[in-house]
Amino acid sequence: MINGQTVIYGLMGHPVGHSFSPAMHNAALAGLGLNAVYVPFDPPPDQLQAAVAGIRALGVAGVNVTVPYKEAVIPFLDELSAEAQSYGAVNTIVHRRGILTGHNTDGAGFIRALQEDAGFHPARGKTVILGAGGAARAVALALAGQGCPELVLVNRRPERAAQLAALVSAATGALVRACPWSAGAEPLATAAREAVLLVNCTPAGMSGGGDGPVDWPLPRGVPGPGQLACDLVYNPPWTPFLKRAAAQGAWVRGGLGMLLYQGVLALELWTGGKAPVDIMRRALLEQAGEWI
Ligand code: NAP
Repeated sequence: MINGQTVIYGLMGHPVGHSFSPAMHNAALAGLGLNAVYVPFDPPPDQLQAAVAGIRALGVAGVNVTVPYKEAVIPFLDELSAEAQSYGAVNTIVHRRGILTGHNTDGAGFIRALQEDAGFHPARGKTVILGAGGAARAVALALAGQGCPELVLVNRRPERAAQLAALVSAATGALVRACPWSAGAEPLATAAREAVLLVNCTPAGMSGGGDGPVDWPLPRGVPGPGQLACDLVYNPPWTPFLKRAAAQGAWVRGGLGMLLYQGVLALELWTGGKAPVDIMRRALLEQAGEWI
C-alpha cells in the first residue's frame, strides 16, 4: 500500500505509454517486498530540464531514461558512470542525497541476455550490426569490450556508420569496419556470410516505429544456419528481421532479453541488492505474450 514512506522510481521518455518497464519494475519491487513504486513520466521536450530538477526536488529515488532523452538529459546530471560517458547516453539515473548520477545499462544488458538467454559469447566470431544510432553504439562498444574479434557496422546513412566505427575502434582497439546499406554489395555480403552474430539495432519492424519498409542489406540466406540473429525490437515479438532469419534456419533472439537485463542492472543500481530476475521475466512475458 502506498503511504508516507513509499519510495518512487520511474521512467522518463516521450512517449512512454507503450513501455513494458512499469510492469516489470513494479512486479520486481513487490517481489522484493519493498515499499516502492515505479511510475511513467512523460515530460514534453521543453520541460526536460525542469523534469530532471524535479527528480532532485521531489526525492524520486531513480529513473530509467528512454527515447528521445538518453542523450538530452546529460547536461542536467551531476556525474556520469564510465559506461554512460563512453556511450554518450544515459538510460538510468540514480539519485542519492541530491546527487544525480547517469548510468547506462543497455550494453551490459545486451551482453547478459546473449550469455544467459542464448549461451553465446561475443568472442565467438565476427558480428554484423545494422544501424548506427544510440542502441547500436551501446551494443557495438559492449561487444568490442567483450572481445568480439571483428565488427561490421551497416547504416542507411553511411557517414554515421563510419563515425561509429571510428569511435568504437578508438575506444576499444577492436577491428571495426563500416559498410554502406546495400544488399549483395561487397565486402558486406562476404562479412555477413562469415558472421556468427547479426544484430538489428534499427527500429525497423517495431509496431508504430521505423520509418518505412526495410530492404535488408544482406545476401539471400543470411542470417541462416549456424548464425544467431538478434533484434533489439521486442514489440511485436516476431519482427520482420527475426521472421526472415528463422525462415532461413538461423537461431533467433528478440529484444525482451536485453530489456530484462538492462532493467535488472538498473534495479540493482537503485537498491544495491539482487534483482528478482524470474519475476521480472514473467512480468515481461505477460506483457509481450510470447518470448522470442
Ligand atoms: P536511434 O538512435 O534513433 O537510431 C536509429 C537507427 O536506425 C539509425 O541508425 C537509423 O538509420 C536506423 N533506421 C531507422 N529506421 C530505419 C529503417 N526503416 N531502415 C533502416 N534503418 C533504419 O534509435 P536507437 O535508440 O538506437 O534505438 C534503435 C532500436 O532499438 C529502437 O527500436 C529501440 O526501441 C530499440 N532498443 C531496444 C532496447 C531493448 O532493451 N530491447 C534498448 C535500446 C533500444 P539512419 O542513421 O540512416 O537514420
